[in-house]
Amino acid sequence: EKVYLNGKILDADQAQISVFDRGFIFGDGIYEVMARINGRFFFKKAHLDRLKWCLKQIDISLDVDALEREIPALLQASGLDNKDCLLYMQVSRGVAPRQHSFPKGIRRTVMMYAWEKKLPDINNNHASVVTMADFRWSRCDIKMTSLLGNVMANEHAMQNDCYETVFERNGIITEASHCNVFFVKDGVVYTHPTGPYLLDGITRQVVLELCEQLAIEVRLEGVPASEIQNMDEAFLTGTSTQVLAIQKVDDYSYFEKEPGPLTQKLQQAFLGLKRTV
Ligand code: PLP
Repeated sequence: EKVYLNGKILDADQAQISVFDRGFIFGDGIYEVMARINGRFFFKKAHLDRLKWCLKQIDISLDVDALEREIPALLQASGLDNKDCLLYMQVSRGVAPRQHSFPKGIRRTVMMYAWEKKLPDINNNHASVVTMADFRWSRCDIKMTSLLGNVMANEHAMQNDCYETVFERNGIITEASHCNVFFVKDGVVYTHPTGPYLLDGITRQVVLELCEQLAIEVRLEGVPASEIQNMDEAFLTGTSTQVLAIQKVDDYSYFEKEPGPLTQKLQQAFLGLKRTV
């Protein structure tokens, strides 16, 4: 397995990072994940723009366009030239004696690696999810490597034999541990507006765009947890999750066998988009 680290492509077991790297000490870093489908990264510009925006939020400077130009060599070294894969990119602030504030004049640590992954045409799994009060901070719009809150929430899902934990903040559903959340009621699609309480998922953006193309009405409103049982359909979105029907939230089931019609329609439209872009 190969990794890109600070300008070099190395065997993974040869790639070394200081124990004083702030990514390790503080989780002081940003990451991005994107999928390569039929030889092209799906909505690459949107992913790289989000990476740039997040780095700016925490004051790490990096030429992301230059980094993008290193991706083909990494894929080639990884034997993935013509394969579908996922690419992980991480930028941490760099190495410095431990102090909380941003040290001056240090060089960021940049790492990328890719692995073969053929996403299914349509994610036909049916997710069970549990709800939980969000205990994370109020900058969930930053795709940061300090993911302990998300990790604990996802572990809570696993402990409950579920795929995801859906967060609720002040009684309103915001997002899940590694996905965005949508609901459908009377033909209208609902998802929480962007802001500090959720990551603006690229798949979320794509699905909202598809709704527009299909003339499906969208309301950017968070659904109250107390309304979950009054909704007709629910689904999750994410880069590797794609569009995944939620079968069950806590003890409430949306369907027995087949996801609702709008979920299926958006899954089909999402597949169509993957085939054409
Ligand atoms: N919300 C959180 C907390 C995430 O970690 C992710 C993806 O990792 C998403 C939403 C979905 O984002 P995207 O569609 O860009 O993968």
